[in-house]
Amino acid sequence: MVLVPKTLQVLGEELAIVWSDGTEGYLPLTTVRRLCPCAGCAGERDLLGRLARPPEKPLTTESFRVVSTSPVGGYAVQIFWADGHSDGLFPYAKLREWSDHPPDLPPIKALPLLPTR
Ligand SMILES: [Zn+2]
Repeated sequence: MVLVPKTLQVLGEELAIVWSDGTEGYLPLTTVRRLCPCAGCAGERDLLGRLARPPEKPLTTESFRVVSTSPVGGYAVQIFWADGHSDGLFPYAKLREWSDHPPDLPPIKALPLLPTR
């Protein structure tokens, strides 16, 4: 059975999802943003399967604020972030996986800091 969100909304710092099977999931927005699957964030594989990662873009507090969300084709949700980023389509299957098994991400403060000039 394909699980889809019955409701999906931003509550404070989290993405709150009520799934079609009645379970609820809460995903920190910081986690969701850092797992953005778009080519600009996650990188792209070339023909030989090598992962080309784009240069790390500094994330700011705006990067973790959601302006709006929009369902895509019944299988994913597009998230519009306050820093203008909206390339990532988050498949529901991934969101479900992340809420069932929170991915192991480095703490935010371990993220690269803005270069000081
Ligand atoms: Zn992205």
